Amino acid sequence: MEDVMFKDGFELNVKRLYLPTVIEVKCPKCGISHKEDLERYAISFPWVGEKTSIGCYCNDCETEFLFDVVIRLSLGVDKSTRAVE
Ligand SMILES: [Zn+2]
Repeated sequence: MEDVMFKDGFELNVKRLYLPTVIEVKCPKCGISHKEDLERYAISFPWVGEKTSIGCYCNDCETEFLFDVVIRLSLGVDKSTRAVE
């Protein structure tokens, strides 16, 4: 398997990206932890290698806040070939 790495800074050309992970972040105002489930809440119009902001809302102190993620992408290429039957 050979990995192809991609340069930073291109759009994935999808409206919404759902990922099977939960990220724990703290409200910048009151410090309460929030779990953001990225399988339920999508990253909108994601780019590779650039910061994408994810919006959260703290119900405890009624504050809207953001945190940033960076998507890094690699492609594993298996160069063994086979004929299509
Ligand atoms: Zn808060």
